[in-house]
Amino acid sequence: MNSQRQLHLRSGDWLFREGDAPTSAFLIESGTIEIRTDRGSDSLLLSVLGKGDLIGEMAVIDELARTETAIALTDCVLLVLDREQLVERLQSADPIVRALLEGQHKRYRGALSVVKGSAAAAPAAAAAADQTGVDKIRLESDLRAALAAGDLDVRYQPMLDLDTNTIAGYEALVRWTHPQRGPISPGQFVALAEETSLIVPVGEYVFDTAAAAIMLLHKQFPDICPFVAVNVSARQLKHAGLIERIIERVYLAGLPAGSLKVEITESQALDYPLVDAFIETCHAHGIKVALDDFGTGYSHLMHLHALQFDTLKIDQAFSRLMLTDKRSMAIVEAIIAIGRSLGADVAVEGVETTGQLDALRQLGCRYAQGYFIGRPLPLKALLHTLY
Ligand code: C2E
Ligand code: CA
Ligand code: CA
Repeated sequence: MNSQRQLHLRSGDWLFREGDAPTSAFLIESGTIEIRTDRGSDSLLLSVLGKGDLIGEMAVIDELARTETAIALTDCVLLVLDREQLVERLQSADPIVRALLEGQHKRYRGALSVVKGSAAAAPAAAAAADQTGVDKIRLESDLRAALAAGDLDVRYQPMLDLDTNTIAGYEALVRWTHPQRGPISPGQFVALAEETSLIVPVGEYVFDTAAAAIMLLHKQFPDICPFVAVNVSARQLKHAGLIERIIERVYLAGLPAGSLKVEITESQALDYPLVDAFIETCHAHGIKVALDDFGTGYSHLMHLHALQFDTLKIDQAFSRLMLTDKRSMAIVEAIIAIGRSLGADVAVEGVETTGQLDALRQLGCRYAQGYFIGRPLPLKALLHTLY
């Protein structure tokens, strides 16, 4: 279909009339068009549109008959936009943006029916607003409220040092139990928070909570001095001032050197100069940095070439199959070898059996983490395991 069609109107021509079936929307390239609607025997002027304005898109998106009439006030040139063009864009748009647009449509249709004096109910298509977007907005508001009310929580999952056979530290994993929906996975709500600047206070909450946990652990167990590793996503890194806020917390809380670690998790490609500067500042303040989920997603060898990670954390996808699938085992072996030759520690997550742990020990892996070693626990329960 030719999506670059132009339409020429002479002054006084109709573009469409109320009741017409919508086929296309239009972009005004030159000229002016007025929009009118019938009210009883009157014709009411709604707006006058000019160059650069979009016209007739609403009925096209809603797939409902035109509720207005458009007449050229001058000679006009219009670009014809096919329905598919608009719908495709709309479907690939952020669900929240889509919901906002649909909300506007609904209100406009409602206002129009008042103007026209018709008791028309909200059109079915508009009433069926995008639930995904609405749900997301609702969940995001709930998350903001949970944060304000202190309803988020952090669990700590032990990491076993295979060199010393002791628990060397813990990974901090954020939790949210929604009052109606129950537990929401961090995969879901962290991703939601990342879409806006809400990730900034969520991240700060995790750092503050982890810092308090470190202080408590070090005070009560000075001979162990475990570290706590906090997750930072690639998208979170893009919010300005993150590293400054982390360092500020380290000094405000008086955290002992080496007690805080950061795991960089990737939901998108890494911005090398940004991550490089982040790692450098972390190192200057005694914070070690791990590359999380190594071997999956966007996490690839180029990262190791470009960035000075202290730890490579192998994703559970490989450890899960390492005893049953030779190829998974070969990959785990190869990553451990790469880590060693780069002077980086290797951590393996998702260790669920003694067999996996024995194999990792044999391969010279430094840290192991998983349900076999310990599940993520609230701080209080964790303290009990140490007494
Ligand atoms: P991750 O960093 O890869 O965290 C490990 C996930 O594996 C955790 O899921 C953990 O509970 C789970 N896990 C640990 N041991 C085992 C095991 O033996 N078997 C299996 N099947 N699973 C195991 P969780 O807590 O649901 O976290 C999911 C992801 O959410 C994390 O993946 C991390 O990317 C993100 N996340 C969690 N907390 C934070 C946070 O505070 N900030 C940021 N930015 N992301 C976070
Ligand atoms: Ca992690
Ligand atoms: Ca991981």
